[in-house]
Amino acid sequence: MYTCAICSDKPCKRGEQDNYPKNCPTRETDEIDKIKELYTEEENHLISYNSALVESEGYCQKTRLEEIMDFADKCGYKNLGIAFCSGLAKEAKILYDVLKNNGFKVNSVVCKNGSIPKEFMGIKEGEKVRPGTYEPMCNPIGQAKFLNKMNTDFNIALGLCVGHDSLFFKYSDAPTTVLVAKDRVLGHNPVAALYLSQGYYNKKLYRDNKDK
Ligand code: SF4
Repeated sequence: MYTCAICSDKPCKRGEQDNYPKNCPTRETDEIDKIKELYTEEENHLISYNSALVESEGYCQKTRLEEIMDFADKCGYKNLGIAFCSGLAKEAKILYDVLKNNGFKVNSVVCKNGSIPKEFMGIKEGEKVRPGTYEPMCNPIGQAKFLNKMNTDFNIALGLCVGHDSLFFKYSDAPTTVLVAKDRVLGHNPVAALYLSQGYYNKKLYRDNKDK
């Protein structure tokens, strides 16, 4: 089992080999050598090298949206795809405008593409968000397939639901980044749940404390 999340001192950040814990992945030098080999593959090198440049050049100065455009420029990605949630249609339009204004070709596909009723995958009336209404299922495989058809170089996920995003990543041919991680309660700022976990959200998030 790997437990980096609870490794208190994280000596790997300083290259302090003598202090690595017993179950430290950095101790597995054979595995690390195989992993390093993967970074020599053309696409992996392009992505890892340019993302390191974007990180250092815009560090604490550029927004994620600016970083996405810088990254795409550095990688030579001209044909971008937006996979967006219909609940963020306004934001998708703004993103489209910004990307176009910065010289990119932009394809965009909404989650409800195909308008396939939720009944198709066995969702019952009572399991819908709004029972009694027509509800198309989110179709992230369709989003990926249609963007693949347009040969996008790089895709941007904008507010896809948990799990729907997983299917989009699974089927997207192009590498994908996330501009917005959906959180309907926290204004799409899911990390706030972690910040509140020791306070207001303690009972909500820790099973042991739920009934206290
Ligand atoms: S890689 Fe090793 S040293 Fe680094 S955080 Fe994980 S367990 Fe700790």
